[in-house]
Amino acid sequence: MASYRRDLAVRASVDQGLLSAAEPVVALLDTAGIRASAAALTSAFAAVTDAHVLHAFAVKAAPLVPVLRLLHDAGLGVEVASPGELALARAAGIPPTHTVLDSPAKTPAELRQALALGIAVNADNLQELDRLDALVASAPTASPLGLRVNPQVGAGSIGALSTATATSKFGVALRDEGARAGVVQAYLDRPWLTRLHTHTGSQGVPLSLMAEGVGEAYALAEEINHKAGRQQIDTLDIGGGLPVNFASDEETPTYAEYARLLADTAPGLLDGRYRLVTEFGRSLLAKHGTVLARVEYTKTSGGRPIAVSHAGVQVATRTVYAPDSWPLRILPYDSEGRPRAGDVTVQDVAGPACFAGDLLATGRELPLLHPGDVVAVPDTGAYYFAHHYAYNSLPRPGIHGFTVADDGAVTFSTVRRAQTLDEIVAEAGGARPDALVG
Ligand SMILES: *Cc1c(COP(=O)(O)O)cnc(C)c1O
Repeated sequence: MASYRRDLAVRASVDQGLLSAAEPVVALLDTAGIRASAAALTSAFAAVTDAHVLHAFAVKAAPLVPVLRLLHDAGLGVEVASPGELALARAAGIPPTHTVLDSPAKTPAELRQALALGIAVNADNLQELDRLDALVASAPTASPLGLRVNPQVGAGSIGALSTATATSKFGVALRDEGARAGVVQAYLDRPWLTRLHTHTGSQGVPLSLMAEGVGEAYALAEEINHKAGRQQIDTLDIGGGLPVNFASDEETPTYAEYARLLADTAPGLLDGRYRLVTEFGRSLLAKHGTVLARVEYTKTSGGRPIAVSHAGVQVATRTVYAPDSWPLRILPYDSEGRPRAGDVTVQDVAGPACFAGDLLATGRELPLLHPGDVVAVPDTGAYYFAHHYAYNSLPRPGIHGFTVADDGAVTFSTVRRAQTLDEIVAEAGGARPDALVG
């Protein structure tokens, strides 16, 4: 279904002139797919608990105002981690009740603003709790407040994305000497501290490890509430981190699988005593984004065919710099946007940037690509084209949402237009040419 919609959208992108010689790289978002993922998330948790659950989309995965508005329309909230992300959430009209602020480096001004707005805040560490003490004492706030803990359950297969290692920079490291007792005391000293937060998953982290991390946080909440003699912690924020399958169109693992695993690992978590917050990012958006790029030239080098396309490090930064951790599929289409089939040849697909490593794929078996062909790079809806890397002053590509009618007609709606050359110059100090010679 998703691939059917994608094929129609690629064809329509060429037909309707979205992708052209003048604009040789664009990004597409499948609106129906995003809605389907939001619905799958909501129903997965509704199937295992009657508790109130706020699914707060991690804005960093797709920091685009129309995406946040769409997700909110589908019943979700947002998780923000910087003043910029909070500004995006507010521009999208997300209410404070549906907004959660997490960040390891919140300034006093950020904390003050969050408390004034009444958005939920998860402190990262005990020093931040001290700052909150002063703010809470100085003015009443509607903000629910929590603390992030790191259950130190271990790493997944990608070090840079493993949040629950022994030495992770996030949260209070629970297994460190004296830390657990310190956290318990911090709650007993602060009756307004009513949430507990952990985020232990990400790409490369197995579900079982994620569930183990959540289970540890749940056990800690139980211990704190027991010692407090009341339900002081009323909300557990279990973070996000569901990994995504980049190898095919199959959406695995599923939210339903994860929710059932949580129910098995920590049944008390779901028995209705706790409200829940989740913070999924990648798994809500990744499968619904596709980069389209025209092939400009083809050549051979050392006998290896190479297609030089317009999508490279600027839209697929992680893949280019860490290809083994972040392989992406390449789907070939002809210059009219029709799927290319037939005999395959081992090829490289390169990007436009001026360094040798700017390769989207190496040694990939694909039908031989030709100049003017279109390559589609699926699964790029999170942490890819919305995370532009300004190498070679390549412009941020336009991003367009699409819907497919029953008769197959594709309608596009621009989420963000492409960056112009004037904007590139302006962002490069264009208004101050004499700044260094005056
Ligand atoms: C990045 C992040 C998320 C989202 O992670 P995904 O892997 O995109 O689901 C959620 N919570 C916090 C605190 C994060 O830093």
